[in-house]
Amino acid sequence: MSEYDYDLFVIGAGSGGVRAARVSASMGAKVAVAEEYRVGGTCVIRGCVPKKLLVYGSHFAEDLEDAQNYGWSIEGASFDWIKLRDHVLNDVDRINGAYTETLKNHNVELYHERAEIAGPHELKLASGKTVTAKYILVATGAWPDVPKFEGSEHVITSNEMFHLEKLPKRAIIAGGGYIANEFAGILNALGSQVTVVNRSDVILRGYDEALRDRLLQISMTRGIEFKFNCTFDKIVKRDDGAFDVYADGRDPVIADIILFATGRKPNSEGLGLENAGVEMDEKGAIKVDEYSQTSCESIYAVGDVTNRVQLTPVAIREGQAFAETVFNDNPSTVDYDNIPAAVFSQPPIASVGLTEGEARNQYGNIRVYSSDFRAMKNVFANRPERGLYKMVCEESSGKILGLHMIGPEAPEILQAAAVAVKAGLTKQAFDDTVALHPSMAEELVLMK
Ligand code: NDP
Repeated sequence: MSEYDYDLFVIGAGSGGVRAARVSASMGAKVAVAEEYRVGGTCVIRGCVPKKLLVYGSHFAEDLEDAQNYGWSIEGASFDWIKLRDHVLNDVDRINGAYTETLKNHNVELYHERAEIAGPHELKLASGKTVTAKYILVATGAWPDVPKFEGSEHVITSNEMFHLEKLPKRAIIAGGGYIANEFAGILNALGSQVTVVNRSDVILRGYDEALRDRLLQISMTRGIEFKFNCTFDKIVKRDDGAFDVYADGRDPVIADIILFATGRKPNSEGLGLENAGVEMDEKGAIKVDEYSQTSCESIYAVGDVTNRVQLTPVAIREGQAFAETVFNDNPSTVDYDNIPAAVFSQPPIASVGLTEGEARNQYGNIRVYSSDFRAMKNVFANRPERGLYKMVCEESSGKILGLHMIGPEAPEILQAAAVAVKAGLTKQAFDDTVALHPSMAEELVLMK
């Protein structure tokens, strides 16, 4: 008999926590999970999944417009936000159910309440109950980080975007990162007037400059307005329910919603980490080693709360590696090199490896190949937007250091190409591969 109630107690049933719980249980561990909200975490409940469904939903605007050149009549087409919103929320319910079922099927005990750490092996639940565990895994994710200023209580975050009662006529979006560009695309396609306001003059910092420029140019052509180097002064609620937004000392701009997408901070407050000597960094992220072990030997942490790479598949890998290390006697780490990522803007961006700038800094001599093309389906639909693919290679060996794409279906195409980059293939390997014609993806093997 173990001296503890559980072998593993996981705080947070998001992507990383659920994976770690399920796999540890399948390895024979007695596991419990505490989740104060819904099983599935940000990705499933208020992130990647419902966002992608909104991207699909909004993209029909473009598809229906383009359909006319393909012989379709679309008179009478209309859009119903509530219908899309509720259908998306129903799907979230479905996945939430599937995740809960998975835990149940693996005999993971689920506490629908908040848990706090009371000591290296002890947890206190909101109900007042105390439980003990040989290991504790913190997988509490991250939360939108909204700066405080006069009237900032009126802003919403991505959390609320999935529950809007109606589509805003005028939306102001603060931030220039993933969430800002994705929701700018969704709202713009659905007919809202969108203004993106960022503190610097850069969108999507970290992505290749040529792709960022291309997205900016296409977004502006589609009617999204951008304000750069702009700081919010205050927000005042009007009698009609809209808001006067004051920025940069100028006259106010009216908005129906103000969405703040200015980054997410690790969800580490009030977890009782100090009771077990778990150290955090200056941003509140839990400090971990390569095995996700914290400064307290019995406590581990995975996912966004550790602020390594804030992406679902990374949290899942960290959860899996934790289970392997702790319950399968197989010390495992996560390889953070060449992680593919995408921005589901319209059109989307997808990228793996080093940008041209990063490669130049690290390698000095590099060679860049590109294809700047207008997809056949866009030409036929009279849509002027051009796609851009870039391959960044080491000059001497031809080894691919980075692959960057913007254009229709770029994330779908990049996932397969990322295998080649991860495997260390060269430009020659792409040149040797016959094009699959006609496709957008063939541009990958035709870059000059
Ligand atoms: P990002 O980190 O992508 O972007 C944050 C933006 O907000 C930047 O433009 C930044 O400006 C600006 N900003 C940061 N702090 C402040 C501040 N104090 N005041 C004003 N502006 C500020 O954050 P998001 O919120 O868009 O997304 C959070 C994370 O969620 C992402 O980093 C990503 O890891 C994940 N995510 C991933 C998605 C995907 O994989 N498709 C989709 C959505 C989210 P500047 O750059 O000028 O400093």
